[in-house]
Amino acid sequence: MHSFRYRDGQLHCEDVDLARVAEKFGTPRYIYSAGTILDHYRRLDAALAPLDHLICYAVKANSNRAILKLLAEEGAGFDIVSGGELYRVLAAGGDPAKCTFAGVGKSFDEIQYALEKRVYSFNVESEAELEYIDRIADAKNLHAPIALRANPNVDPRTHEYISTGSRENKFGIALDHLAAVYESAAKMPNIDIVGVQMHIGSQITEVAPFADAIKKVAPIVRDLKSKYGIKFFSIGGGLGIVYESSFASGSRDWWNADHETSAKHQLSIQEYVDAILPPLGELKLRILVEPGRLLVGNAGVLLTRVRYIKRTGPKKFAIVDAGMNDLIRPALYHSYHEIIPVRELNNPGHEKIDIVGPVCESGDFFALDREMPEVREGDLLAIMSAGAYGFVMASNYNSRSLPAEALVRGDEFALIRKRQTNKDLISGEIDPQW
Ligand SMILES: *Cc1c(COP(=O)(O)O)cnc(C)c1O
Repeated sequence: MHSFRYRDGQLHCEDVDLARVAEKFGTPRYIYSAGTILDHYRRLDAALAPLDHLICYAVKANSNRAILKLLAEEGAGFDIVSGGELYRVLAAGGDPAKCTFAGVGKSFDEIQYALEKRVYSFNVESEAELEYIDRIADAKNLHAPIALRANPNVDPRTHEYISTGSRENKFGIALDHLAAVYESAAKMPNIDIVGVQMHIGSQITEVAPFADAIKKVAPIVRDLKSKYGIKFFSIGGGLGIVYESSFASGSRDWWNADHETSAKHQLSIQEYVDAILPPLGELKLRILVEPGRLLVGNAGVLLTRVRYIKRTGPKKFAIVDAGMNDLIRPALYHSYHEIIPVRELNNPGHEKIDIVGPVCESGDFFALDREMPEVREGDLLAIMSAGAYGFVMASNYNSRSLPAEALVRGDEFALIRKRQTNKDLISGEIDPQW
């Protein structure tokens, strides 16, 4: 399915003209395609049909309530990493009985809240956390369903900041230690052992790390099933998406659902599922998958307008109205985002340009020395694949307002978050009364 494409010389999201959106509602603004999110969810769901499975969308990738609602209505579960995320999921109509609560540093209040709401499972990352949950459950006279997070020590071959499944990371429990921690868990009176979990990293673009991790953990899962009667095995998320598309090489369709037209080979849903189905099917357990980026990454763009063109020596800069506070991925991970003009240029001349924001940091850039069609003052640009880990990492740095968000469905357009005002910026601040 193609959600962002040129039609009559203008970039559209589904059937909505992005230039008209920018004129009417302003920039910077995130725009998401509901159709793309649903398409990704449904294709993964269909591919996993041979297994008893539950897709738990990783809320941290994009937690806007409208997006959670879209997925909740499709029957999705949710992978949450904080009490705040659980609150959002419930506000969006999500089912707590389909929520798994992950994270290495759960607080007293968060554990208590998740127990009260009866989440499906606490995914526990240490023995200390396990004891803490047991004590809180005891005080509330409840039982806490838990899965331990296994760290299979595989290299996901991704950016070091988003690798989580190797011995050097703070995440999970080493495989040679896992059985012992399950034994302690079994002795805790208010703990119910219900599953095993793992998550090896993000933006993984090969099947091998997933297959290797499953191969390493499957024998342990089998053991735990016979010992404790566990119900599920969660294999985590981490499926990578296309960031570099064929747009740059002249294709008019920015993104193809099966990645067939992408310039670089990327992992497809089918390829992933084909590799994991056989070993998982044999386990005869419920399988949980926790995709974040895969569902929403390619479904969103950050729309921004060029404020100024600046030349210094041989260099040309386009200073746009979005900054690193709106989308931090290039600054944080040096990640690549395709940037394309909203108005299609015929026979564009190419030039090298830096696309930078207005924030007072040299790290405030979206592209450096990028070969682009000529960019002029006032042009609208779309920063592509910004649907995951975009808005959720936005900040008020430089006292810039959080950007607005909008959702498109067919030819309909809905504002799903207002742009903050200056008043919002200081609304939580208190003058000391001394
Ligand atoms: C972040 C996270 C995910 C989702 O990762 P993606 O790369 O966005 O798919 C899944 N599970 C856990 C435990 C996570 O922390």
